[in-house]
Amino acid sequence: MDEVKEEKKVEMVCSFCKKKQSEVAVMIASDSKTCICSECVLLSVGVIFEHVEKVRKQIDIITDSLKRIEVLDVTNQFPQEFKDLIRQITKIGG
Ligand SMILES: [Zn+2]
Repeated sequence: MDEVKEEKKVEMVCSFCKKKQSEVAVMIASDSKTCICSECVLLSVGVIFEHVEKVRKQIDIITDSLKRIEVLDVTNQFPQEFKDLIRQITKIGG
């Protein structure tokens, strides 16, 4: 009689919230020990968007300040590298 090997299938557990694979819609694994569930991914995306929004607001403030400086035409006195930097920042902002 053949010995039936019982395969122990270990259920993946989210490394962040400790929920089991059966408790969430999707589990993403980088290896058998490190996983992230779809709920934690969504939370992470929210955190990243908040950060991006914060950075965007800061860029908007800088851009507005730089535009005001440009209106005063003070930028003609800036070195070329600084003018290029201003151009880059105002491009990102908007
Ligand atoms: Zn999770």
